[in-house]
Amino acid sequence: MAGSHPAWRDRLPISLGRHSWSDELQGIVTNITNGVSLTMEEGILLFEHQDIDELFELAKLVKESRFDEQAFFNINVHINQTNICTLACKFCAFRRGRKADDAYALSVDAYIEDLRKYSDRVDEVHSVGGLHPDWNVEHYCELFTRVSSEFPHIHIKALTAVEVKHIAQLSEISIGDCLSKLKDSGLGSLPGGGAEILDDEIREIICKGKESSQEYLDIHGTAHRIGMPTNCTMLFGTIETIEHRLKHLIRIREQQELTGGFQCFVPYPFLPDDSRLPEAQLSSGVEILRMIAISRLFLDNIPHIKAYRMNIGESLAELALQCGADDVDGTVEKESIMHLAGSKADLEHDNIALAKLIIDSGCMPVMRNTTYTKFQRFDIPPVQQKRSLTMAQ
Ligand code: SF4
Repeated sequence: MAGSHPAWRDRLPISLGRHSWSDELQGIVTNITNGVSLTMEEGILLFEHQDIDELFELAKLVKESRFDEQAFFNINVHINQTNICTLACKFCAFRRGRKADDAYALSVDAYIEDLRKYSDRVDEVHSVGGLHPDWNVEHYCELFTRVSSEFPHIHIKALTAVEVKHIAQLSEISIGDCLSKLKDSGLGSLPGGGAEILDDEIREIICKGKESSQEYLDIHGTAHRIGMPTNCTMLFGTIETIEHRLKHLIRIREQQELTGGFQCFVPYPFLPDDSRLPEAQLSSGVEILRMIAISRLFLDNIPHIKAYRMNIGESLAELALQCGADDVDGTVEKESIMHLAGSKADLEHDNIALAKLIIDSGCMPVMRNTTYTKFQRFDIPPVQQKRSLTMAQ
């Protein structure tokens, strides 16, 4: 149950029944209470619902039925192994051509030395990067084998679905064989990036050449079948409609019914600038929170909904914990993709600062491992304050 209360569905009638709901939401509340998954039409209604506080309250109560006031985080480092990419997705501020002045590709040794700087304080490394034209499965197996042998306490969460597809193609092996080899070398889970919007017409415009929406789901399904958990994501606020977003949620939910290995859903907004996708709109704070709340209500078979602090910033992440999210990702000791894309979130966060953010939101901080199988309540040590007051003369 990945930290969920074992009888969370049985708690819904009690917690939702204490509240008085508007006529507009009552049918949806009844369906949620009865364990009936929401439909596209109900999703549209939630997007159009004017009483935003009521929507947030509903998502918060559903979250609390699973996790009470707990909110989760972990201690991790992000290392992006290369920014060289054979594709050029329109929204991507990170990728570089091979000959660009600031193109880079970390050797296995350089990656290990980078990770070593953080290895005494993290238990997860999160690594995604570009589609390097030469790095096949042998390269990644060597990398993951080195990480596992030098830092056995660190979980490797790495590679988006399109990276897996690229590595398999370059190595002329199937997706299943590729994932099995990577797993045997130490890959523990997939972070879920690259889902964007699971609609092929939208993908053709914003990320031409990437895996199709069905391939994204199939790659994750293959990982689930070999016992590798994954997360799943959604990049919203580019050129998609509300219906595209809901279709995305429904497809993720259906895949989960089939293979059951999604542990967390991470919806995050596109951060526009002048050069990329000028037609995209900056999602407002309320829109971001609405998307998180609707994700909680729609994805009744995925336990965790993440407020991706590195993308939406501290303040919204704090609010999101009152709107259906239960996780704020990790301390993220290093990050470049979101910051090149315009994120203003603090780069480094120690565990105390992250726990404080959670407490300020009204929740209880709980440290977790990557796969949501180990949990530890995190109490902030009393602050030793040293004061010296100078009397005004
Ligand atoms: S999003 Fe990924 S696949 Fe697309 S251009 Fe950027 S690095 Fe390459």
